[in-house]
Amino acid sequence: MPRYDTRCFPFETSETPRARAMATDERILLCTDLDRTLLPNGPAPESPLARPLFHHLVEHEPLLLAYVSGRNRSLIEAAIREWDLPLPDYAVADVGTTIHRPQAGEWQVWEPWWTHIGRAWGRRTAADLAPLFDDFEELAPQAPEHQGRYKLSFHAPADTDHAALLARMQRRLGEQGLRASLVWSVDETRPIGLVDVLPPDADKLGAIRFLMRELGLGPEQLLFAGDSGNDLPVLASEIPAVLVANASDAVREAAEWAAHEAGHDDRLYPARGLSDDLNGNYAAGIIEGLVHYHPRMAEAVRRHLAHLQTSGS
Ligand SMILES: [Mg+2]
Repeated sequence: MPRYDTRCFPFETSETPRARAMATDERILLCTDLDRTLLPNGPAPESPLARPLFHHLVEHEPLLLAYVSGRNRSLIEAAIREWDLPLPDYAVADVGTTIHRPQAGEWQVWEPWWTHIGRAWGRRTAADLAPLFDDFEELAPQAPEHQGRYKLSFHAPADTDHAALLARMQRRLGEQGLRASLVWSVDETRPIGLVDVLPPDADKLGAIRFLMRELGLGPEQLLFAGDSGNDLPVLASEIPAVLVANASDAVREAAEWAAHEAGHDDRLYPARGLSDDLNGNYAAGIIEGLVHYHPRMAEAVRRHLAHLQTSGS
């Protein structure tokens, strides 16, 4: 018996051809953050064979791949080119507010996710909400490429009393009967404050749970990999997760504490390094997590690694 019934769920539109080709019970949906998780763009060293091995595993094993990133689509595409990454089955972009699917060489927005998160805002989109904040003098709209159908983004001075600002914004939304999550961060390179107004479920965790449901997978068929603060909700959730070894001690402690509080100690694995060839950083950490939760993958990892070593790539 198939695990799911196409009469009940819109799987015809949810599954990629690759997904359909995999035995349902064997599939693993591998969801990974990009910057400093799969991308070795931090100070820690990367094991030279880790990314080629990751590529091989995704190509040859029943792994569905989702990139889950704060980047927008064009910056995800740039990362794929720059770091020679496999094309994913799904790309969760714009801090969770958009899911794209590369299909036949084109990236397409996966509409069911927009339908789902858009319910909280009725028929209104981010552009419709913008005028609510016209009289907030500290807010300036970010450039159009940083806006989305369900992502309204502003700049504010970095030294803004952001707690007070977000409270005022939340009140304004409440007056319209709207719920939203407001996210404050600071771009330290400039430095400038960033404010995102998003539908309540439109974050990495909400998007991953949605993919899980739409694909008819159980949590045990998922693996999430992350490294930093905006990954914490997923790292502490029911989704089996690996924290790559290059994560900071502060993030490791915060993730372990949050997972413990949620009763999910067994769903968080901090990578430490498997061998001289897989040091636990970046892609090596993701692979270590895969082996930890899915011991049957250990043999595939050994085989593909041996192949790479003998082929000298
Ligand atoms: Mg990251």
